[in-house]
Amino acid sequence: MLSLLSLGSGSSGNSAVVYSENSYILVDAGLSAMQLKKRIKEGGLDPQKLDAVIITHEHSDHIRGLEVLSKTINVPVYCNSLTHEAMVSTNGSVKSWNILSSGESFMVGDINVCGFSVMHDAVDPLGFRFEKNEKTLGFISDVGHVTQLLLESIKDVHALFIESNYDEILLQNDTRRPWSLKQRIASRHGHLSNKQTADLIGSIAEGGLLKSVILGHLSNDCNSPEVARAEVILALSNRGISEVEVNCASRSEISGPFIIEIEVDEEGEEKDLEGYAQEEFPLFS
Ligand SMILES: [Zn+2]
Ligand SMILES: [Zn+2]
Repeated sequence: MLSLLSLGSGSSGNSAVVYSENSYILVDAGLSAMQLKKRIKEGGLDPQKLDAVIITHEHSDHIRGLEVLSKTINVPVYCNSLTHEAMVSTNGSVKSWNILSSGESFMVGDINVCGFSVMHDAVDPLGFRFEKNEKTLGFISDVGHVTQLLLESIKDVHALFIESNYDEILLQNDTRRPWSLKQRIASRHGHLSNKQTADLIGSIAEGGLLKSVILGHLSNDCNSPEVARAEVILALSNRGISEVEVNCASRSEISGPFIIEIEVDEEGEEKDLEGYAQEEFPLFS
């Protein structure tokens, strides 16, 4: 099995668990340590069993809980060298740093992980591919621009977690944000609009492998799950694609688990998922 549980996604904090029966990976730790542990348990998982924490980039909404979490759970932290430099002084309780390189895959238990560079206003931000039994999950949090490398890295994924930060009109009309901040959000080093995300999803889905999309990091003021989801569904239907499931990750509570890969036994029956049936969890959509 390969699954994704979002613990929370948005400017107030980002974190998710990518896991199999045997291996648990925390992707980003942007909620308080207390909330991280509470929500991992709500998802039916044991925070003490985390095998790795993987960091996409050093912004506080992605690492806020790391220092305190590392005081209570001895778990290795994976990030690239520039992100390590940016984080090390404020995360002294991390006992084991593992420096990873873009494009080089490594195993965390039985899950293959590979990072790739994305454009965002951090020192060296990454997206990730997680793979088990030839089923792949693409994970992209903050990104301002879809590069060829990004497209190549996720063109064959079966499931995709990706930010869908703002609706272009709602951002334009927003009176609370100064013009300079709007420019930063919309820039190539900021965040993806619903339209940019929808176009990207549409082009990947044309490959025929993509079955599930989870939209994350939705702006509270300049977006809504309904608006973001509608934009993606429109982009898919414009391409004649209807079989991709589109969900949104909640800002403030767990979403999922989203099951990407289910192992089958010799008779073709799904193996027991130890109670992690997708229907049991209300999807935030
Ligand atoms: Zn960021
Ligand atoms: Zn962020």
